[in-house]
Order: sequence, then C-alpha cells, then structure tokens
Amino acid sequence: MSAPSLNFYDLTRDELLALASRWGFPGVHAARLWSYVYLEGMEAWTEMAELPARYRGKAEAELAFHRLDTADEKHSSDGFTRKYLLALADHRQIETVLMRYTGRVTACISSQVGCAMGCVFCATGQMGFMRHLTTGEIVAQAMHIDAVLRGTHADAALAQADASSPHARHERLRNLVLMGMGEPLHNYDSVMKAIDILRDPSGLSIAGKRITLSTVGVIPGIIRLADESRPFHLAVSLHGATQAEREMLVPVAKKWPLDALMDACRYYIAKQQRRIFYEWTLIEGKNDSAENAHAVGRLLQGQLAQVNLIPLNPTAGFDGEPTGRDAAKRFQQILADYGLPSTVRQRRGIDIAAGCGQLAVAKPR
Ligand code: SAH
Ligand code: SF4
Repeated sequence: MSAPSLNFYDLTRDELLALASRWGFPGVHAARLWSYVYLEGMEAWTEMAELPARYRGKAEAELAFHRLDTADEKHSSDGFTRKYLLALADHRQIETVLMRYTGRVTACISSQVGCAMGCVFCATGQMGFMRHLTTGEIVAQAMHIDAVLRGTHADAALAQADASSPHARHERLRNLVLMGMGEPLHNYDSVMKAIDILRDPSGLSIAGKRITLSTVGVIPGIIRLADESRPFHLAVSLHGATQAEREMLVPVAKKWPLDALMDACRYYIAKQQRRIFYEWTLIEGKNDSAENAHAVGRLLQGQLAQVNLIPLNPTAGFDGEPTGRDAAKRFQQILADYGLPSTVRQRRGIDIAAGCGQLAVAKPR
C-alpha cells in the first residue's frame, strides 16, 4: 500500500466532509473526524478508537497527519517564551514561538521558509527565500503549540512550571500572530486557507479578533484583504516614514512605495472600519530620533492607527543596536502629541533570540 498523499491539516472542514462522503462515510463519522483532530487534539488514526475499523482503514489509506517534529527548542530564562524549531517533510526548518504574556498565550507562526523581501535587519530576510509553506504546514504549527498547551507534547520546562501552578495545563490556543518567518501576503492563498481552518467554529475556533497578520507592505495583498473583508487584525511594518529612509531598511519599498502603501492602508481602514497596527523596529541612531518620530506622526496623523515599537533584536548580518528605554519613551511621547497611541513591545525571550528567523540562523555569541 502506498503512503497516503493527502495531509489532514490541508483540508477545510467542508473539504474533509466531501472527501469522507466520497469514501462512503456516514455524515456523523465524517463530522467526528474533524472534532477528533481540532476539538480533542488527536493526531493519529490509532487514537480514534471509536471510529469503526472499516472507516478508519479507508481514512488511513488516503489521509495522513503531517505533524512537525521538534528539531530544537529553547526556553527563555524568564519562562515567558518558548521557541520551537520545527522540521518539515523536506527537512527544512521553520520557527514557531509560544509567548505567554499577562496570562495570555499567543502562537507566533511562520508563513514561508526564508523570505524574499530582504529587510536588512531581519534574520529571515538575510536567509533569502526558500519556499512557501503549505496550508497544512501553517495549520500544523498552531496545532503544535495547542498540543504543548494541552500537555500532550513533552515539554520538561512546562511540566516544571505546572508543578507550581496546577491549572497551567489543559488550556487551548486562543491567540495567533503571523509574525514568524516569511511574508504572509506573499503566500496569500495558503495563509488564508490556514486561517479559515483555525477559525472554524466547530474546530479550534480561534476568534478573528485574536488573530493578527503582519505584512511588510505588499500592496495588492492589503487591497485584497480589504475587499475580501477578512475579519482579523492587520499590522504593517513601516520602519521608515519617508520613501528614502524606508528603502534603506526595507528594499521592497522600491516596488511598493510609501505613498501607494499609505493609500492602500487608508483604503483598508475605510473599508474594514478597523485600525491598522504599524510596526516600527527601533534601531539606535538609524530611525529613533525625535525627527523620525515627527515624520511618523505627520505620516499617520488622523489615521485609525496604533504604532508598535519593537527595539531591534540584533542579528548576525546587520550592524545595529536596539534603542534604549529613554529614547523609546521620547519617541512614544512625540507620537502621542500627534494623537497616535503606541506600545513598546517588551523584549521578552531576547535571550533565546525569539526574533524573526533568529533560531534558524543562530548568531554565534
Ligand atoms: N514579514 C512580515 C511578518 C514577519 S516579521 C513583516 O515583515 O511584517 C514580524 C515583525 O518583526 C516585523 O515588523 C519585522 O520588521 C520585525 N522584525 C524582523 N526582524 C527583527 C529584528 N531583528 N528585531 C526586531 N524586529 C524585527
Ligand atoms: Fe521578510 Fe518580514 Fe523579515 Fe522583512 S521583516 S525580511 S518581510 S520576514
């Protein structure tokens, strides 16, 4: 018997039901298959003891669970961040991060192996583009984190934490950010299908308002998101507030210029009636001056926007240092003068290089 070629995690619920109906499954068993996996977290046919053997045999022959094996795993010293290097079937590796801030658990997942956008300070950009992830590979990352939370995947540090806090386990994944490796809007269809699967109300059911997709500013993708009314949050990585300054950090700004990007963002906000989060990596002496902050203020003034300031995580291929606390505060104050709310993202997990692409290309220290 040849190995099944279809991956369970590639299928929407409707696709699974259609497939199972072609196999002659009664509807009730087909629907149960979905709940076994996305409600009960099963990840092998052998776990589905209640599925009659004749149906299980058929499903097993056609459909496989392409889980992602952990190639490496790092836990931050503060205990809030866990970073997994996960192996794909072709032995390439991607990063998935579990972040636990103020009681909320968020999975940060990847959309590509490497990235074609080449942002100069980004470890993934420095790697170049290898390939897109499939829908199943994106879904499997979220299911990996969900399995860690449910306690079904071995995780020594979590077990230790549980000893002091017995209720820490058996929670489900509720928050998702597409801020790992890769540019999600460069892999639009696979990413959107994965989000649909993870949002499915009879499955993991992650609420749209708890999902954030971050883009470097792929204009056609932003317009498509607005037109398709996708109900999740959008973050746009800005880093420079004039065309010349942005181009130096974000080379694809040449292809998708700042003026046109702002038009697309305003279109998105008007159509969705939803704010955009702008991300700004704070790099000492490069884009963190008072003048830089005023430029952001002038650019975004009047928009339904929030700015997330992220002090740089140093990477091997870029000569730059993170902005200090005082300069970040000053930057925030200037934005506030323009009526722009902002946050400085806490640099949790910095000791495990929990920045984009940084475990896959670990910097020798
Ligand atoms: N490709 C998408 C999403 C992945 S990167 C994007 O660029 O938006 C997620 C965020 O991490 C982006 O805002 C990116 O600019 C930021 N980032 C990448 N490398 C970083 C680093 N070394 N230090 C701080 N932020 C970084
Ligand atoms: Fe790609 Fe985002 Fe890194 Fe830029 S910051 S290279 S778009 S992953």
